[in-house]
Amino acid sequence: MSEMIAVGNGVVFTLGNPGQVIDDGAVLFCGDKIVEVGKTAEIKRKANSFIDAGGRVIMPGLICAHHHLYSTFACGISAEPAKNFVEVLEKLWWKLDRALDLDDVEYSALIPLARCIRSGTTTILDHHASPNAILGSLGRIGDTITRAGIRASLCYEVTDRNGAKGAQAGIDENRHWLEHCKASNGMLHGLVGIHAAMTVGPQTLDACILLAKQYGSGLHIHVAEDKADQDDSLRKYKKRVIARLAEAGGLGPKSMAIHCIHIDDDEIKMLAESKTTVVHNPQSNMNNAVGCANVPKLFAKKVRVGLGTDGMTSNMLEEARASLFIRHHVVTDPATGWGETVGMLFENNAAIASDYFGKTLGVLKEGAAADIIIADYTPFTPASADNVFGHILFGVAAEGVHTTICAGKVLMQARELKTLNLHDISKSAAKLTPQTWKRFQSI
Ligand SMILES: [Zn+2]
Repeated sequence: MSEMIAVGNGVVFTLGNPGQVIDDGAVLFCGDKIVEVGKTAEIKRKANSFIDAGGRVIMPGLICAHHHLYSTFACGISAEPAKNFVEVLEKLWWKLDRALDLDDVEYSALIPLARCIRSGTTTILDHHASPNAILGSLGRIGDTITRAGIRASLCYEVTDRNGAKGAQAGIDENRHWLEHCKASNGMLHGLVGIHAAMTVGPQTLDACILLAKQYGSGLHIHVAEDKADQDDSLRKYKKRVIARLAEAGGLGPKSMAIHCIHIDDDEIKMLAESKTTVVHNPQSNMNNAVGCANVPKLFAKKVRVGLGTDGMTSNMLEEARASLFIRHHVVTDPATGWGETVGMLFENNAAIASDYFGKTLGVLKEGAAADIIIADYTPFTPASADNVFGHILFGVAAEGVHTTICAGKVLMQARELKTLNLHDISKSAAKLTPQTWKRFQSI
């Protein structure tokens, strides 16, 4: 029997529906599960050990529904200016991913994983590409995930842009990972990755969908991030991207369509009817100047929309603020976007991750996973269930995270990382990256 540990003497934001705010509250957990949530005085009596939040906010670990750990080494890189989204891919991402070897894959994962822990992100859904180091890449990332101590769903971005052998290697890597995840304890998960509809032909698309079905999994694919994806689909197949995916059998409750910016009403209907998840990534969309998904419309049509970062950051509160502000900006209405932002970050990301990992995530309640953070924030205005999200987006987001616990394991305490040494990792990465960049420049 694991010992009973309490995190208490804080203001507990349980989230969930209905969420509660508990002053002088505490969370009791045993192993990887929460046993009880209540007042500190009562909870403390049942605990073998106590983590003192010192009046700060105690809330569930955050979830990122779309990440690219492999994008890390783009920080500071010198790339040719891009005039549009396809050039962003050609001049930056499709050169960087080709430059990565397996050591790069490992270190470009470790750095954002440390940042996940530092910003309270305890679950990520990652989308990986390293065309010259495919075999074993997901295993290397999986090892870093286990070392860091967070939860992750991984997949390899299959594409035809590196020939038939490259496509097959991507499919094989997804298969190896899905096989590996059969023995997972709820910390690791696999999907079948596809870069985007515009980079896979019919044969590769069918093979990916077949693999997903064989393992009871789904697709993780960029969809209509730019109009170029729709133009390619209409030119080659005389149908729009979502229709093509639907006809091939690629939509469904286990599949994730990332971005979905340039989609029409018929495509929204297909996403809703098939219960396919959409993931919104506003910072990346602004950075690539590709537009903004119509999240209110997707919500109105009952599409489940989650929030991801597309590799731009590991900090979900930074992304949530961007989600709120882009909506205000796009429709010039400062009253819009709250419900959708909160719905994506908390309700939907929790539902998506709970479905994949087979555990109750994103909420502090009895039986839920012990994924708990102490935000380095003490409310200085009244906090209640009615205004909790204001405190999170304008209070917690400004102060950062003090302590991060995932599956009952303390990964950071009082801002000190326990599982990763970011300073040492950064120094090791700095020995690799000059060669990585040299390869980048020669591609
Ligand atoms: Zn992406």
